[in-house]
Amino acid sequence: MRHPEPTLPDLGILRRSWREFEDGATTHPVAVGKVIVGGAEPVIIAGPCAVESYEQTLSIARAVRSAGVGILRGGAFKPRTYPGSFQGLGEEGLEILAEVRRETGLAVVTEVLDLRLVERVAAVADMLQIGSRSMQNTPLLVEAARSGRPILLKRGWSATLEEWLGAAEYVAREGNTRIVLCERGVRAAACQAYARAVLDLNVIHAVRALTPLPVIADPSHAAGRWDRVEPLARAALAAGVHGLLIEAVAGDTDRALLRSDAEQGIPPSVLERICGFARSDLASNPP
Ligand code: PEP
Ligand code: MN
Repeated sequence: MRHPEPTLPDLGILRRSWREFEDGATTHPVAVGKVIVGGAEPVIIAGPCAVESYEQTLSIARAVRSAGVGILRGGAFKPRTYPGSFQGLGEEGLEILAEVRRETGLAVVTEVLDLRLVERVAAVADMLQIGSRSMQNTPLLVEAARSGRPILLKRGWSATLEEWLGAAEYVAREGNTRIVLCERGVRAAACQAYARAVLDLNVIHAVRALTPLPVIADPSHAAGRWDRVEPLARAALAAGVHGLLIEAVAGDTDRALLRSDAEQGIPPSVLERICGFARSDLASNPP
């Protein structure tokens, strides 16, 4: 049986804003600094889970830049399950990101967790990340949209496609259509012994068929282990994503010292392989 496309009743902006989309399945490209997400080439975004120090962030930034990556990721404010866990360096983390951005010329994407901090985070970031846990925090979506910065909208780990696109519509209604969707894995009991989440490759085509928004995948938070990131990254590229968001560590990292997602970051050698694959014909975006 062929499943029907879901009906999406309330996506006025996403459905009507782009004439190109009405004419066909064209993607609406989103510029992040000098990098275009949603163009012909898949875009890799890489960096640490959390900004932990200036030296760590700069050394990862240099490694990702030499792999050909143009956008650095890294959390200054981290959404953590337990209040006793490292919550990110906060304001100091933002200052580090600003300094590393100046030093390397990389564009920066970082998460904004709190609507009171949107202005502060937007002053440093080229793109604002709305995390999985915040996908339906609608006041935060509205405030982030109003900053005018491009928005990286992660899918809630149990959000349906309709709920995810509904969240994107909150951003679009503020007049900000610079939205990139990010599939980061959905929770499923069946996989919990070996992975954090199931990277939903099925959703890539559905998103591309339903909206003109670029869609990327985060294999890191689905895998939960760095040695499983590369196969998932390749699979996502083959499924038609416009890019990847990947956690990375520097070559000389002692994982025991990392304070957040210590097992997930891929070393530079793996990042270079993924970037090589992303540049190959195998991974070029279908129109
Ligand atoms: C992250 O990318 O830093 C993160 C916390 O991911 P998610 O919101 O998908 O859990
Ligand atoms: Mn992480």
